[in-house]
Amino acid sequence: VRRSKETGQAEAYETRALDRAREEFAMETALRRAIDAGQLQLHYQPICDLATGRVIAFEALARWVGEDGRDIPPSAFIPVAEESGLIVPLGRWAIDEALRTLAVWDRRFSSTVQMAVNISPIQLQRDCLAPIVASALATHGLAGERLKLELTESALIADPDGNAETLRALKATGATIAMDDFGTGYSNLAYLQKLPIDILKIDRSFVTGMMADRDKIAIVRAILSLATTLGMETVAEGIETHDVAQTLAALGCTYGQGYAYAAPLSADAAYELLVARNS
Ligand code: C2E
Ligand code: MG
Ligand code: MG
Ligand code: MG
Repeated sequence: VRRSKETGQAEAYETRALDRAREEFAMETALRRAIDAGQLQLHYQPICDLATGRVIAFEALARWVGEDGRDIPPSAFIPVAEESGLIVPLGRWAIDEALRTLAVWDRRFSSTVQMAVNISPIQLQRDCLAPIVASALATHGLAGERLKLELTESALIADPDGNAETLRALKATGATIAMDDFGTGYSNLAYLQKLPIDILKIDRSFVTGMMADRDKIAIVRAILSLATTLGMETVAEGIETHDVAQTLAALGCTYGQGYAYAAPLSADAAYELLVARNS
């Protein structure tokens, strides 16, 4: 039988879609096992005061070393975790583990350094985050002010009213709310007024390489002015050179993070950096 070209293409397409589905399912199974076995880790990247270089916070970033010993990046496993619902246990674990680490550091070195934890839109919709956050803070004996929650725009615009309520409940724990990757998502800024957001994190696509790009500098300026007007703090992400750090400070940005300061570090290395920088 002669098969038409169209049929052949459709079959090839279906095969690829099936392969992808199988891969995703294999990853989901492995991720579930890794979460159950406690094989995920958090690394910690410092967020620094641009003027003084002091560490004001660490961002906790999930790390997964696969069974073959290779690093699986969050950009690969977070979407799978979100689609499968595994983000709920993963997210609860991240909040608990990050605060547990902060409490360990507190016992060895007194500081007011904060811990920033990423929250997925799915967690915000499906999990009862406020009581979970409150109980994790209590378990580890930490004031709510020590915790920052990083949310993305897409998480908030879907249901601004429902989310405003969730955010207010989260803020009642004392935690502060940061808008992550700001500038890449939604362009209607009205929601910023409706939501109790404390911090704008300027996406690294506007920061890395900004010295050579006037448009990027213009966007950064606009975000900084917006933040000032709305009474929000600013954190620039993706600072890879000291030139960029200096320029951002001159433009009025207060905090920054990026390879120029440090890459995400193991808990021990992060603790050492905290003591070295903040003593
Ligand atoms: P994010 O929250 O925007 O985190 C910042 C990302 O930028 C991290 O990537 C960090 O390693 C990277 N980065 C930091 N400094 C620089 C720099 O100077 N240059 C460049 N090019 N990159 C820099 P990472 O660790 O691969 O995480 C990617 C994303 O995965 C995060 O983006 C966050 O959205 C998500 N993610 C990571 N951990 C978690 C988690 O526990 N829960 C949730 N829901 N999402 C997470
Ligand atoms: Mg983040
Ligand atoms: Mg970010
Ligand atoms: Mg980003």
